Amino acid sequence: MQEQNLIFKTNRKLLNCKGLQFMSQSSTNNYLKNSLILSIAIVPTILATSVTALQVQVSPTKPRLGDTLTVVVTPDPPTTPDSVASVTVNQKTYPAFKVAPNKYRTFLPTTPLQKPGTRVLQVKVGEQTKQMSVQVGDRKFPVQRIRLSPGKAGLEATELELSRVAALKQLKTPKKFWNGAFLKPNKGRITTIYGVRRYYNGKFAQDYYHRGVDYAGATGSPVIAPADGRIALVGRASQGFRVHGNIIGIDHGQGVVTTYLHLSRISVKEGELVKAGQVIGAVGSTGAVTGPHLHWGLYVQGESVDPTPWRNSKFN
Ligand SMILES: [Zn+2]
Repeated sequence: MQEQNLIFKTNRKLLNCKGLQFMSQSSTNNYLKNSLILSIAIVPTILATSVTALQVQVSPTKPRLGDTLTVVVTPDPPTTPDSVASVTVNQKTYPAFKVAPNKYRTFLPTTPLQKPGTRVLQVKVGEQTKQMSVQVGDRKFPVQRIRLSPGKAGLEATELELSRVAALKQLKTPKKFWNGAFLKPNKGRITTIYGVRRYYNGKFAQDYYHRGVDYAGATGSPVIAPADGRIALVGRASQGFRVHGNIIGIDHGQGVVTTYLHLSRISVKEGELVKAGQVIGAVGSTGAVTGPHLHWGLYVQGESVDPTPWRNSKFN
């Protein structure tokens, strides 16, 4: 029994010293089971060195819906250089990318469509695993009430734009292109923030939320790349991008993608590498819009998250 307590305490201590506020459900049962088997056969000194643990840090410490969760995992003892790392939450498994020797990271999206509350994270690097829970707080998003006259149900997106944009959002390129804080993509003022919900003719649109930030730059005002990346999509209204209008998609790597909609001009080509601050196009009113503006979207692992926190460097 003493050995069991020793291991349990060691495990708790590891967690506490990382300053984590999360309850560890970390394979306690496995530890107890293992220690029971080991304590029969092996002396305690060997036991102490055989404890393995994944150190997991999640930030921000008090996330709210729309935030991007950063999960950093440090295996202890270090794993082999080519270990496969992942985080599973809500039955979805996301790859974690190596960001330093023996350090892996993944970003988890949260959105206004999710419920606030507990997320159970299953973290895995090679053979090491750990389960932990994270609390995601609620956030009140502004609400718009839209009146549509009968027969004006809005433009339908074409198959072409839906499939191309869906493919863009799913990119999980291992290379990390960006470095530091994301820049503002346009100098115009922000007219619609991320996450706004809508009622259409008094009926709440369950699946709708504003998947980005709108900038009210004048037609022709420059749109810049907020961070380094690879141009992964160039689509034009004339080719069938009926709702998005002229669109650019940038792959920043490691599951982070940005989109630029309704452009009047596109100055880049697919496959081109762009630098932070580089002009990629100009504000316009192509696609389904009521006036000129830039719609800027930021996707993490295929889901639209609030781009605002990405404007500081904590995601570097
Ligand atoms: Zn928008």
